[in-house]
Amino acid sequence: MPELPEVETVRRGLEPVLAGATLTRVEARRPDLRFPLPEGFVQRLTGARIERLERRAKYLLGPLDRGDTLVMHLGMSGRFEIAGGQAARRPGEFHYAAPADPKHAHVVFETDGGASVTYFDPRRFGYMALIATDQLAAHPWFAGLGPEPLGADFNAQHLARAFAGRRQSVKASLMDQRIVAGLGNIYVCEALYRARISPLKPAGEIGARALTKVVTAVRTVLEEAIDAGGSTLRDYAAADGALGYFQHRFSVYGREGEPCPGPRCSGKIVRIVQAGRSTFYCPACQR
Ligand SMILES: [Zn+2]
Repeated sequence: MPELPEVETVRRGLEPVLAGATLTRVEARRPDLRFPLPEGFVQRLTGARIERLERRAKYLLGPLDRGDTLVMHLGMSGRFEIAGGQAARRPGEFHYAAPADPKHAHVVFETDGGASVTYFDPRRFGYMALIATDQLAAHPWFAGLGPEPLGADFNAQHLARAFAGRRQSVKASLMDQRIVAGLGNIYVCEALYRARISPLKPAGEIGARALTKVVTAVRTVLEEAIDAGGSTLRDYAAADGALGYFQHRFSVYGREGEPCPGPRCSGKIVRIVQAGRSTFYCPACQR
């Protein structure tokens, strides 16, 4: 499943082609992805100009000059391919060793800049919607979301308020989208390792200095992953039958039984299950 850094990488790849572009032709090759495409999807987009391409949590947002916003979510296996003007590019291609199968090409956007952007999604857990821009913030997908982890509102003071009195583990709390938006399993594991905090620790017991470390660690792991062009998930790779090449960058995720990479630590990475999700950490240096 693409996590926030992958979605941001895709956004940066699509931005030069879609932001400011007018859609000259839109093709929906099927009526639904995970959910039905909105009524009049093709008509409402054809001729519209995408003013910007933004990201909120793991959603891509393209506000249109017509008052709607094109909302796109990659689900488990969604990806884009850009053709035209220059050689074909696939933003976020690092997830996938296999080329896109044309039978999974579901939506095509053609722009006045001569580009063609195709959305592929073999498992069809991705989705697209058109939501009135002035109602976006109140929409159920966005209304309860916490601050962006790379934005200024995600800071130690915010976490202190959100974690106050909380018995739930810091791992589960950081995955709560109401506390911080778009943070997934891999990057929470990596950030807690970086901050040397046990994922089992109740959120309410983390002191002010440690909260600052958590914030810094979250930002650092996300920024490094975005710089590296994203990451690769083991289950994703297994589903696609091919391994991606950023997996080795993780310090603890997927490294059960391996020595802790900390220079002065002789611990071993363990895997536990918290709230139904795998947690990887080093019990020796994460306290
Ligand atoms: Zn360690």
